[in-house]
Amino acid sequence: MAGNLTLTMIKPRAVEKNHIGPILGIINEHGFKIKAMKFTRLSKARAEQFYAVHKGKPFYETLTDFMSSGPIVAALLEHDNAVAEFRKLIGATNPDEAEEGTIRKLFAESMSHNAVHGSDSDENALIEAAFFFSETERY
Ligand code: ADP
Ligand code: MG
Repeated sequence: MAGNLTLTMIKPRAVEKNHIGPILGIINEHGFKIKAMKFTRLSKARAEQFYAVHKGKPFYETLTDFMSSGPIVAALLEHDNAVAEFRKLIGATNPDEAEEGTIRKLFAESMSHNAVHGSDSDENALIEAAFFFSETERY
């Protein structure tokens, strides 16, 4: 059975451009419940840890530099079939390929500055949730 949790981050460039409010608004409008949320900044080492699965790929350095370049919003979201439903809402990794109305289509500048993260599996959603939030920080 599909899980009901997914983890998102509003990435540094979207934060810098004052897109936190609009993005959270879309997330709420689509029925995702915020279970935990944090305005924080990843160190380079923490960004490398978060994206360890991509270590060795050509974009890993750029990605971890970017993700540690400024504050982000991390949030744990609840919804039926959360991972797939949220990935549908954010659209393709490359904003040029993202469908109209998706968060990445609306707010992403490029493949690397693509506005938001979304977990890719139930297993990773739980790992990523634990990366940011203790049990007492979830409501
Ligand atoms: P997603 O965020 O859609 O799950 P991936 O997990 O494949 O995508 O990649 C993680 C992040 O790394 C992407 O959101 C994007 O910011 C960046 N990225 C992925 N592929 C590329 C690429 N070819 N060039 C630049 N950045 C990339
Ligand atoms: Mg991914």
